Amino acid sequence: MEPNDAPSALTVLSEDERLFRDSVARFADARIRPLVREMDERAAIPQDLVEGLFDLGVMGIEVPEALGGAGARFFHAILAVEEISAVDPAVAVLVDIHNTLVVKALLRWGSAAQRERYLPALATHTVGAYALSEAGAGSDAFSLAARAVADGEGYVLNGRKLWISNAGEAGLFIVFANADPQAGHRGITAFLVDRGTPGFTVGRKEDKVGVRASSTCELLLEDCRLPASQVLGRPGQGYTIAIELLNEGRIGIGAQMTGLARGAYRHAIQYARERRQFGRPIAEFQLVRAQLARMAADIEAARLLVYNAARLCEAGRSFVTESAISKLFAAEAAERVTSAAINVYGGCGFVRDFPVEKYWRDAKIGQIYEGTTNIQLLTIAKQLLGERR
Ligand SMILES: Cc1cc2nc3c(=O)[nH]c(=O)nc-3n(C[C@H](O)[C@H](O)[C@H](O)COP(=O)(O)OP(=O)(O)OC[C@H]3O[C@@H](n4cnc5c(N)ncnc54)[C@H](O)[C@@H]3O)c2cc1C
Repeated sequence: MEPNDAPSALTVLSEDERLFRDSVARFADARIRPLVREMDERAAIPQDLVEGLFDLGVMGIEVPEALGGAGARFFHAILAVEEISAVDPAVAVLVDIHNTLVVKALLRWGSAAQRERYLPALATHTVGAYALSEAGAGSDAFSLAARAVADGEGYVLNGRKLWISNAGEAGLFIVFANADPQAGHRGITAFLVDRGTPGFTVGRKEDKVGVRASSTCELLLEDCRLPASQVLGRPGQGYTIAIELLNEGRIGIGAQMTGLARGAYRHAIQYARERRQFGRPIAEFQLVRAQLARMAADIEAARLLVYNAARLCEAGRSFVTESAISKLFAAEAAERVTSAAINVYGGCGFVRDFPVEKYWRDAKIGQIYEGTTNIQLLTIAKQLLGERR
């Protein structure tokens, strides 16, 4: 068994998917791996690495070639997120949110003018961010307090967003605000906000336990005036846009968790072969072998759930339950696998000189963003019971 290709799910990839995956894996190995520790310590991704991701073609995966993108599919985005996460899950956040939430939103709901203006930029140099959460609106995301008041030809936005990934690097933000609070969640509207728009500021950056290199910031909207042409979709369609994006985006988080579990597993199996105790490699002890086998089983299951959800989504079949299950399982599996990797390393697993503790720290976020584990359970149960919101 190849340590870096542990589970056999690779057999479900087509030739073009395999080639794409391998090119991303080579990039991650050569360009990201040497920077992992420094990025974690400095809590930042260097600009030239961000540029390298654009040059590689993983920032416009589903953008049509005519608009400067790769003209590939959602499944390719999932593969890219998985491969990058195997090396650095923090860098993968940038790629994941940009592709599965921002590019996807423009592709699906952007007007012709918005697509022409933003998609070439998103494919070549502009990072995107998705701003839904607020201090008082986390799991209850649609109780958001940000307001958009119609004024002349456009809207004036006020409010604060919290926990916004990619905010440090992003040039374009999809911001959700309520333009008709009387209508409840049916008043929520999505806006395209360019960095530098007067009244829009990127605020404090969070100091996090994991995925530290990924920027997570507060956003401030203070009388931020936008023309009506910056509304994405229709006024009041923001709820549908937000929820449909998250249903797909969760598969990306499942891929991130699968990739990072693979990364930790790869280190653990190598260490188990090299580390000797009682006169032999620890990989020869049955209890260590059992730990490695459980890790591989978790990864295999997570990966199959993620790939299946992605294939269903791409095929236009119903996938909401499968998406939530894939994220739920992959996030919990990632926590188990990364914790077991630390156990395999013994004391060396508990210090920063070795790579596995970072995977463990990075795994935790999988149970929080794009819907906590409880929210995935509620979504799955709601689907199974045939209930609507
Ligand atoms: C690193 C990071 C990056 C993020 N990136 C983004 C981003 O790019 N864009 C964005 O919009 N948001 C982002 N978020 C926000 C993220 O989506 C929220 O943190 C998440 O939705 C949970 O909301 P909360 O933190 O307010 O927790 P809360 O909603 O306060 O939840 C606290 C606890 O209560 C539980 N709970 C809440 N309601 C229920 C219920 N009905 N039933 C059972 N249990 C419940 C939760 O499961 C959780 O265990 C990010 C967060 C982090 C930490």
